Amino acid sequence: MSVLVYVEQAEGKFKKSVFEAVSYAKAIADQQSTNLTAISIGDVAESELKELGKYGASKILNVSVDQLKTFVNQAYASVIAAAAEKEGADIVVLSNSFSGKGLAPRIAVKLKAGLADGAVELPGTDGKFAVKKTAFSGKAFAITELTSANKVIALNPNAFGVKENATDAVIENFAADIKPSDLGTVIKDIVRATDKVSLPDAELVVSAGRGLKGPENWGMIEELADLLGAATACSKPVSDADWRPHSEHVGQTGIAISPNLYIAIGISGAIQHLAGVSSSKVIVVINKDPEAPFFKVADYGIVGDAFEVVPKLIEALKAH
Ligand code: FAD
Repeated sequence: MSVLVYVEQAEGKFKKSVFEAVSYAKAIADQQSTNLTAISIGDVAESELKELGKYGASKILNVSVDQLKTFVNQAYASVIAAAAEKEGADIVVLSNSFSGKGLAPRIAVKLKAGLADGAVELPGTDGKFAVKKTAFSGKAFAITELTSANKVIALNPNAFGVKENATDAVIENFAADIKPSDLGTVIKDIVRATDKVSLPDAELVVSAGRGLKGPENWGMIEELADLLGAATACSKPVSDADWRPHSEHVGQTGIAISPNLYIAIGISGAIQHLAGVSSSKVIVVINKDPEAPFFKVADYGIVGDAFEVVPKLIEALKAH
């Protein structure tokens, strides 16, 4: 019995959510008095792989083959499942990221495992292996008991935190047996459309809604985001009207995010919008209507006109 954590890389680097998944997997391994093995797929330098030891991975399986240089859902799932079988891992942990959401159910099917996706806490220690997870687009929590021998857990970013746990990590190459049927759809190359922080991984997000009146007013939103090193997001009507790209749409029908800071400007706070952002650590709302529903879930609120408040915020940030 052991625990395997999949460590997703982007351009050869691990993101904070990966170190968080490793920290979480290490805590489960400790609960089960067993070891933690990590599996990395793609081109990652040895020095970067060694970083995983800081968070408790004692063995790191490295899969570096040409066919798997870019993410291929089915093939990655097969390799991770094969590694779990070879290592005798009955618990597989991964981040509930964009690719994690595609991988987790596939790995679960291959391992005939129970799945808890969107986990927010460690499993209970009363012998029941019950995992608290988000449900109904983040509007509720569910406690899911995994009764199967094998288990897959996809951890929500920002739910557990990064915890250092220095371990001497051994790196091993893992020979992946890739079937042609796993390579039905292959991404040849990924070209970044922008150098800006990508929304699903952003720790800070500046988001705006219909209160901004039109696309011509997004200059101040982008300036505020740039000053903070934040990603930009928007409400659904804004992307429906083509004021902003659909990739920025957050909510029930858009991307679900959980950054450390979410600043909502001129957004009413409809339940469908909150479904995608309510697990943000700190929510700041700027709205001219004191009755706007968003204020009910805000940690900080400014009742005021965005066209006055945002330039003042920009001015204050520039002064520092
Ligand atoms: P509005 O509701 O028009 O609110 C604009 C806000 O701006 C108001 O609160 C107003 O007081 C404020 N304001 C106006 N002028 C200013 C100013 N000068 N300064 C400061 N504040 C100002 N929505 C999503 O966002 N994401 C989703 O994923 C999503 N999925 C949906 C799925 C379904 C099935 C349905 C039915 C709806 C969905 N919606 C979604 C739409 C959602 O119900 C709301 O209509 C939408 O979120 C409202 O967007 P908004 O807050 O930008 O606009």
